[in-house]
Amino acid sequence: MQETTLGRTDSSTGRRSGLIPTRMQALVKRAPAPGAELQEVDVPEIGPKDVLIKVLAASICGTDLHLYGWDEWAQGRVHPPLVFGHEFAGEVVAVGTHVVRTPIGAYVAAESHISCGDCYECRHGLQHICRDVRIIGVDRPGAFAQFIAIPEQNVWPTDRRFPPRIATIQEPMGNAVHTALTTPLAGANVVIFGAGPIGLFAVPIARASGAKKVITVEPSQYRLDLAQRLGSNVVVNPLQENVQHRVLDETEGEGADVVLEMSGNATAIAQGLQVLRSGGHISLLGIPSGPVSLDLADGVIFKGATVQGISGRRVFGTWYQTRGFLDSGMDLSPVITHEMPLSDFHTAFELVRNGQSGKVVMYPNGMPE
Ligand code: NAD
Ligand code: ZN
Repeated sequence: MQETTLGRTDSSTGRRSGLIPTRMQALVKRAPAPGAELQEVDVPEIGPKDVLIKVLAASICGTDLHLYGWDEWAQGRVHPPLVFGHEFAGEVVAVGTHVVRTPIGAYVAAESHISCGDCYECRHGLQHICRDVRIIGVDRPGAFAQFIAIPEQNVWPTDRRFPPRIATIQEPMGNAVHTALTTPLAGANVVIFGAGPIGLFAVPIARASGAKKVITVEPSQYRLDLAQRLGSNVVVNPLQENVQHRVLDETEGEGADVVLEMSGNATAIAQGLQVLRSGGHISLLGIPSGPVSLDLADGVIFKGATVQGISGRRVFGTWYQTRGFLDSGMDLSPVITHEMPLSDFHTAFELVRNGQSGKVVMYPNGMPE
């Protein structure tokens, strides 16, 4: 790889570490069509408030799969060519002139949503629902690359005792933390719908938050097994048994105090309202692929239920809570089922697509020792 002391990331007064190459390997969505290509591209330039990060690990999210498969959502949102990927961790190798808190060499993860700071929501401390949000790897170049440039405001310093594979999953774990902690779980019967990576993260989070019983509903046996390993007290396969009957059996006929909807499946959302007890709380994180028809009269209104929509992570409140769970010793490593170099992206995306996986982590700068 070509290297220079006058890398593209250099700015006259910014700081940088040693030699930074001018070109790098990156996974590029080249054309408005399914697939992606590993290509050599320029290392991104940084502005005065940006940092350049050497990506040590990048994990795949459902959004990346939408982009890779080029579905309707991706077609309406993304403008190729684009380096995608937004869950990552790495080391800061250059900083812009106005970067104040982040030293060269800092070990960091990142909030993937770049809020504008100016809109009504941002000015009310609600950056996670910023109306002008720009998402890393969706609206601007992302992390499936050897280097990424992001604003310093999105950097999340991380302790080195967490390896890159754990550091990168803080972002999706934050989704689970945000969803789970919108209502007290202590002493509660908690039903999680969907044991994708985020639902799996939610299992130990709910246990650590004092849930009386965690019940996980998921049609994939592979993922139900993972949920059990992570501490789910009960696992239910909706293809094999009646979800409502089982939840009532498991809760002395009361139903769920709290439902965490993490599948986005229309049937699961309807079942979530069915199993919720009167006065219960349901947090909706899963994103349905279209409009969903629900029995609001019996499912919400007469129950006096609370419905909470969840978008992203609170910035940075959720990140501190996530760090707190990790610092407490929570072991999320069973969720990470596959790790490979970025060059094996075909295999990685196939694993995510077929669901025989938990979290899949890729390494753009080589596998860790
Ligand atoms: P995922 O697709 O890996 O997991 C979804 C799981 O739901 C799968 O394991 C699937 O088998 C399961 N499922 C399907 N039908 C079901 C049913 N009837 N009952 C129970 N489970 C069922 O996704 P993920 O990465 O874990 O994310 C979970 C959801 O959250 C997705 O819908 C994703 O798009 C969404 N999401 C939302 C936000 C947000 O900010 N709101 C952020 C990230 C992800
Ligand atoms: Zn905003």
